[in-house]
Amino acid sequence: MAWYPGATKYELQPESDSQPAIRPTQFIVHSIIAPWTAKRTYEYWRDSTNLESHFGLGYEGDLGQFIGTETRADANASANRRPDGTGAVSIETASNLQGSDPWTPAQVEKLIALGVWLHKRHDIPLRICRTHDDPGFGYHRLHSAWAVSGTACPGDARVKQFREVVFPGIAARANGQTVPPEEEDEMTPDEIFKAVWFTDKIAAPNTASDKTTNVNWQAQSYLKDIGNRVRAMDARTAAQGEAIKQLAAALASHHAVIDPEALVARITEAIENVTVRLDITP
Ligand SMILES: [Zn+2]
Repeated sequence: MAWYPGATKYELQPESDSQPAIRPTQFIVHSIIAPWTAKRTYEYWRDSTNLESHFGLGYEGDLGQFIGTETRADANASANRRPDGTGAVSIETASNLQGSDPWTPAQVEKLIALGVWLHKRHDIPLRICRTHDDPGFGYHRLHSAWAVSGTACPGDARVKQFREVVFPGIAARANGQTVPPEEEDEMTPDEIFKAVWFTDKIAAPNTASDKTTNVNWQAQSYLKDIGNRVRAMDARTAAQGEAIKQLAAALASHHAVIDPEALVARITEAIENVTVRLDITP
């Protein structure tokens, strides 16, 4: 029994223990005609049928293994296990309900990585199977012996990808001609902070005086601008409050005649006091 370290192990019982051993010489890819995750494919094999593939691959590149690669799985008709004990390793891959969509980049990458592992682990030769029992790599419809009653699987788009991208990718990487793409670097919190707050991505406010030359603002510029405006508004509101208070006091006083000069002076002083207060308030 061999389990691919790059897959999540969802072991199918009793098949995993009860089905006969094989010596894997082929890798055959399928489309499952359902947009399923690897886990959902496992549940289907477990709950709804006694058939199964060795592997399942979701759109996001989630890869599950259900049966060890040295045990028979039942996805490829007569290729599952031949009288000489050799057999095919199979993978079902998530697809649309018509089986017409291409593999996603994440699926392509996992197919290549798994193909390389199968080559190294089981010596599956780097060629496309020339006949139904020729060791190598293939897709379900490649040889009629691999399907009970004919199949279009895995669909035209994926056959093209298999021939142009997946198989050449396996061969190149197995020969050391390419390196696997690096896992995308996770951004640090500091990098995320800078990307969110310090990227000029937000259209400048319509009222900005330099809108024509400074078309996009950073989020932090918006935040500062809003803060400045709110504080200025606070100051104006407080000053107005003081002015109103002085006016009310003048109107309520016993002086029959209001002295405008004196009133203006008192208002000005009151506003200056509140401005000083605002300035020293943190
Ligand atoms: Zn198939």
